[in-house]
Amino acid sequence: MFAFHSLPALLAGRLLQAPAHAAEVRHLLLDSRRVGQPAGALFFALRGPSHDGHRYLPELYAQGVRLFVVEENADLPGGLSAYPEAGIMEVASPLAALQGLAAAQRRRFSGPVLAITGSNAKTIVKEWLAQLLSPDEDICRSPRSYNSQVGVPLSVWELNPSHHTLGIFEAGISEVGEMPRLAQVIQPTQGLFTNLGSAHDAGFASRDEKLHEKLRLFQGPGLERLFYCHDQPAVREAVAALGLPGFGWTSQGAPGAAVQFVLHEADANAPATIEAQYGDHSHTFSAVLPDAPTRENLLHCLAVLLQRGVEAAEIQRRLSRLHPVAMRLEMKQGRHGSYLLDDTYNNDLAGLGLALESLRRQSRPGRRTVILSDVLESGLPAPELYARVAGLLATHGVSRLVAIGPDINEQLAMSNEQWTVVEEQEATRPARKLLIAHYSLLIEFYPSTEAFLATLDPAAFAQETILVKGARRFGFERIVAALQAQQHGTVLEVNLDALSHNLQHYRQRLQPGTRLMVMVKAFAYGSGSYEVASLLQFQRADYLAVAYADEGVALREHGISLPIMVMNPAPDSFDTLRRYRLEPEIYSFDMLREYLRASAAMQPAHQQGHHPGASSPHHPLTSSPSIHLKLDTGMRRLGFEESDVPELAALLREHRARLPVASLMTHLAASDEARHDNFTREQLAAFRRMAAVLEEAIGHPVLKHALNSAGILRFPDAQLDMVRLGIGLYGVDAGGTDQDALRPVSSLRTTISQIKVLPKGQTVGYGRRGSGTAHERRIATLAIGYADGYDRRFGNGVGTVLIHGQPAPLVGSVCMDMCMVDVTDIPQARAGDLALVFGPGLGLPDLAARIGTIAYELLTNVSERVKRVFVTE
Ligand SMILES: *Cc1c(COP(=O)(O)O)cnc(C)c1O
Repeated sequence: MFAFHSLPALLAGRLLQAPAHAAEVRHLLLDSRRVGQPAGALFFALRGPSHDGHRYLPELYAQGVRLFVVEENADLPGGLSAYPEAGIMEVASPLAALQGLAAAQRRRFSGPVLAITGSNAKTIVKEWLAQLLSPDEDICRSPRSYNSQVGVPLSVWELNPSHHTLGIFEAGISEVGEMPRLAQVIQPTQGLFTNLGSAHDAGFASRDEKLHEKLRLFQGPGLERLFYCHDQPAVREAVAALGLPGFGWTSQGAPGAAVQFVLHEADANAPATIEAQYGDHSHTFSAVLPDAPTRENLLHCLAVLLQRGVEAAEIQRRLSRLHPVAMRLEMKQGRHGSYLLDDTYNNDLAGLGLALESLRRQSRPGRRTVILSDVLESGLPAPELYARVAGLLATHGVSRLVAIGPDINEQLAMSNEQWTVVEEQEATRPARKLLIAHYSLLIEFYPSTEAFLATLDPAAFAQETILVKGARRFGFERIVAALQAQQHGTVLEVNLDALSHNLQHYRQRLQPGTRLMVMVKAFAYGSGSYEVASLLQFQRADYLAVAYADEGVALREHGISLPIMVMNPAPDSFDTLRRYRLEPEIYSFDMLREYLRASAAMQPAHQQGHHPGASSPHHPLTSSPSIHLKLDTGMRRLGFEESDVPELAALLREHRARLPVASLMTHLAASDEARHDNFTREQLAAFRRMAAVLEEAIGHPVLKHALNSAGILRFPDAQLDMVRLGIGLYGVDAGGTDQDALRPVSSLRTTISQIKVLPKGQTVGYGRRGSGTAHERRIATLAIGYADGYDRRFGNGVGTVLIHGQPAPLVGSVCMDMCMVDVTDIPQARAGDLALVFGPGLGLPDLAARIGTIAYELLTNVSERVKRVFVTE
């Protein structure tokens, strides 16, 4: 902990205002949506290309945050006097101050610190080392892959000099010049370089430059040892040339490596034998090494264990217990209207905190429940650990806890100085209530997962949002299976991190001040509207748009509060629109008159003034929602035409008080095609002309917007007040220039139901259209057909799926619920294996081109019967 008043000297800052009460800094805060505990939180107002932390000061202050680091000369909303009790310090760079504070915390720790970098596998190697070394050490490590300019200081801040005995932190960079700053924060005494690959090549002039930048992590005075793979010539040479204290290993007999490994691998699923020669000793280990990356990661870990002198038998014991690193949180529909967050990540305190943030972020109404096992891997004494757990549950708004396991039962079942426990009756079963100050948490206790499952009634969790988080040995996958809605083998997996990445990509291309509307029509392009909308709300999009009123109603019922535009409302839905604060797009005189009629019918005599703003005005429910006027400038689909402008202007002027116009918009017909750019420019010019006249008639400025995804990238000077992002968010750049910078969001996968061996000459499927061949074939039947949205045009060799990463061509026609593929060349394929229909490695634009359509159609065709699973890393 640091006293706030000591920070100006420590971080070269200037105190703008001393806090009303002397204050210690307990935790660091970068995001107003993650306040958790405001007491002792120090907020750093960071600024990025599309983000300015200073904007959130009022919100933070209202939530009780009292300590702030701001940028010199920044405008504080409302001025200093808006924060009378706050301590505010200004610095040249809040990011540098954050890093400086973490570096100071690091200097208080005298134990060893291992830093990991490289192109791939940093997180896996870090997690494995933490598993393998935990019997000997109390480890502080980066949560998940917190390895960035802000992730590293947040991780290092958690080092507790009186508790931890080892720090393991990962560092990742994407540009020249970033690593020395991370090195100053981590100050490693040991290093590990995983490998050099192509990840993040873009930020560097050459692979060699990237390697040298990464190695700057290890050039501080305190470094005693650097673990690396001696079989990568570039790495080996750089380590030697820089005179780093290398500790290399080889599996190819390279001379000069500290450890020599010899591998004897049987087949992929049987354990391999690893002979290790280190110094005068040789040992033999066994481990399952299904692929080359696993092999490399494991050998890095073995090198560390051998160097530390862990006994061979003990190493083997720990290797046998090593488990894969799962780093994702899956969200899926549960039974009885419940919603599940299935977190398979390590069951430690940091992991629990992150999972609870995901839970709190869900906008669904209804109770928030956590099903939690004993928390392992924390290294804290049980009373302190569960006091922290209870505190986390309280600050994240959890109202019900199902506690499974002996430790959590013992620790949370009795009152102590921090809380009181009282008996309660919950539905039909006895429960207890834990009271911490004003907060009350209902708890049901079970000694084991079996005991819980024996009495489980999924209806008792109806409508709840449930986080399921258990240590591995509790086998909580059984609980998830019991609570989740039925799933057949075909799943559309939606990667919410990829979605955030794409959002960020487009945001960075917006002019300052341009707002962002995101199109979530058609079930968010097939991806699942509520989840996508909820993420967009969290990421502070300005507006959402749907095609029909009922899509908007569904979003409101799931707790989405962003302004929502409805593009094609039926005239009889105006009443629904009003009740759900949905804003219609109006594209014809008939509609406009209908709107006026409907609003006259319910409008009270007094009028609401209208103010265009980031979020549209919240008219009370008795008044009409804001409207958006659609102008047709060349799409020839919906909208007022240029010849309509005089009449429209007259109507707007006449009914000024009753027409709360929020925006004027048009839609481009060919923003993605260079050959039509002249036409597009004419559309934009017509829009500006029409908008100028109409805005004058409206009598106040309104938002003007024209661009869709391709337009945002191709016509940056026409971004106006707002843009409408669609397909780009879902990972497809229709214009083609930025495709490589976007991440695929959706993967459609299914399973192999059966494999048959067909003698030569036999045909496959309906109409015998899968004609016979001159050789024997292995044919796999997949559990996906055109009723799931897999297009019939993919039949007969046009489409391929990926099985074990290898292409398998379609054979015969796609059936309603099934299709057949040739797996002759994939001998390891078995019934039950996964087949990827589209996703990473099987891009939508390419697949769409094969059947003469566009990515939009493939995405939106995935039928609603295909379950959506949402994952975050
Ligand atoms: C669907 C839609 C968009 C988004 O288009 P993309 O090509 O998916 O970016 C924008 N504006 C309107 C009016 C739309 O209907």
